Amino acid sequence: MQKHLVLVGGGHAHMVTLKHLHTFIEKGHRVTVIGPSKYHYYSGMGPGMFSRTYTPDDIRFATEHVVTKQGGSFILDKVVKIDPAAKTVFLEKGDPVSYDVLSFNAGSYVPWDQVDGEHTDIFSVKPIETLLMAQARVLELITQKKISVGIVGGGPSSLELAGNVWQLARDQGNYMPEITIFAGSSLMSRFPERIRNMAYRSLHKRDVKIIEQDYAKQVSKGRITLESGAVHEADIIFLAVGVRPSTIFKESGLPTGPDNGLLVNKFLQCTEHPEIFGGGDCIYFQDRPLDKVGVYAVRENPVLYHNLMVSLEEGELQPFDPGGSYLLIFNVGGGRGILGKNSLMFDGRLAFWIKDYIDRKFMREFQEMEK
Ligand SMILES: Cc1cc2nc3c(=O)[nH]c(=O)nc-3n(C[C@H](O)[C@H](O)[C@H](O)COP(=O)(O)OP(=O)(O)OC[C@H]3O[C@@H](n4cnc5c(N)ncnc54)[C@H](O)[C@@H]3O)c2cc1C
Repeated sequence: MQKHLVLVGGGHAHMVTLKHLHTFIEKGHRVTVIGPSKYHYYSGMGPGMFSRTYTPDDIRFATEHVVTKQGGSFILDKVVKIDPAAKTVFLEKGDPVSYDVLSFNAGSYVPWDQVDGEHTDIFSVKPIETLLMAQARVLELITQKKISVGIVGGGPSSLELAGNVWQLARDQGNYMPEITIFAGSSLMSRFPERIRNMAYRSLHKRDVKIIEQDYAKQVSKGRITLESGAVHEADIIFLAVGVRPSTIFKESGLPTGPDNGLLVNKFLQCTEHPEIFGGGDCIYFQDRPLDKVGVYAVRENPVLYHNLMVSLEEGELQPFDPGGSYLLIFNVGGGRGILGKNSLMFDGRLAFWIKDYIDRKFMREFQEMEK
């Protein structure tokens, strides 16, 4: 019997499902993919795109083309609500879509809670497309005058962005900006001391200021106010305060974890509705919380593909094993990186070279589907 598979978001966890979309069609099923952009951008290469190490084409995947080429339908829209009893998703603009099996890879967003008033010259590090607008604005200003750039947040995205703002200005600007990171408690506080020291060293070499032990309380056009009362001016402000899963699950009354991510069991299956699945940043994995890193989304791929297929056909669901530790490499700009896996930690050109090799290989594999 023909069934309807609906995929929400064409992110990292749906890549294998998208690659094999034709296998659902060949078995007589309908597939619809819903997403707010015709493309999916690979966030791991986002800061590198900002500094022009990569072009937008290098880091994006033509979701709509890949879906329609294989006989699926693509709807350019955003899911805003789910009615699990009626097995229907509601869209921001278009008509509701009903499903037999539904899978979420709707990612995460950077909260704008601290932002007050006008949003002019304030950019968040996600969605990655935003970095393109930010790049154009920074370039416009740094060719004319010396500006200040404030980056709110003290994690890896702040580190990567600071290094890549520096690189963009070095390579393309007439004036070097004054870059400040407002790191909250302390820079890269979740990471081992050696990685943190490498991060400090890299930022100090580029004259990036780091403000610690003081959280940003309010951000408004050109201004960052800290909890201590200190006020800092900045021509451009980036929000890199961490990410949260989409709020659609909570708002739809689906079971969620403490971060509002869709609560899924070991089969990446919603704990209350067996025909709903999910992967990537938008889920809360019941067995153990997972870091919001692309590595897990990528590891979830084959399990999601298998479990979606057996839910439409027959067979046993496969459990997801998150696996052990993972390799992290930060692109700190200027062709340099910081690499860490277990006790192996080093920085420099080799670290970036490894990241560049892995990231380009990952993108090539998925861009192959576009042919
Ligand atoms: C600047 C930056 C750099 C990073 N670098 C790394 C790195 O080097 N390595 C690493 O492992 N992790 C990195 N991360 C973390 C990584 O980005 C995330 O863990 C990863 O993107 C999660 O993948 P995802 O597919 O779940 O979400 P996303 O990549 O966010 O994809 C979600 C998709 O869903 C779509 N979507 C969103 N809302 C809706 C909706 N309502 N309806 C329909 N579609 C929707 C979006 O358009 C998008 O295509 C980085 C994050 C940032 C911000």
